[in-house]
Amino acid sequence: MYEKAILKISHIEAHTDLLGPYDRFVIWVHGCCFDCEGCLAQNTRFGAYDEMPVSRLALQIIASGCEGITVSGGEPFLQAQALARLVSEIREHRDIGVIIYSGFTREELEARPECTGLLHQADILIDGRYIRELDDGRAYIGSSNQRLHYLTDRYRESGERYYSASRRRAEIKFSSDRVTLIGVPSAEVLKIWQDIKLKNGGISDDF
Ligand code: SF4
Repeated sequence: MYEKAILKISHIEAHTDLLGPYDRFVIWVHGCCFDCEGCLAQNTRFGAYDEMPVSRLALQIIASGCEGITVSGGEPFLQAQALARLVSEIREHRDIGVIIYSGFTREELEARPECTGLLHQADILIDGRYIRELDDGRAYIGSSNQRLHYLTDRYRESGERYYSASRRRAEIKFSSDRVTLIGVPSAEVLKIWQDIKLKNGGISDDF
């Protein structure tokens, strides 16, 4: 039924509220078929990645206790079947919410049979390419052409509050071997981030 049971993953982060309501487990998948000018996720396109068995990641997410997952990238629908299997495996054990950021529009996804399984499992889809000229600083969404679709009622109330925030939030996290930017940054945070990258000679990762 599913063609692949392996996911190419650039980064995972448990317990963050920077990419959706409630406590989330965020997965940044590797690889993208688009080339948006000003893309802030370069590392998911050209950086290192892990090949992770779906079942192992499912167990990790179940054990995390997070309310839901957010899948970003990269382009999640390039790995639609493996992600659909991931969601199914988790939901066999407990109910979780699913938010997906995609460069494809909803209409493009609905026209691609290989994508509809995952699309039908999502509670929220944030769709469309990032267009730098249309980056209006809206919280949690990169540019004004991108649309937020409530595909189920799960997040309708919490999402109305969450996505109407007046400003963006992002975190810069330091560890022993990397500095990581998580979230959709404001212009001020982006400037700080670019300075950090320059000073660190390229060991930083943006997601
Ligand atoms: S779709 Fe997202 S990850 Fe892909 S190039 Fe555009 S901004 Fe970057």
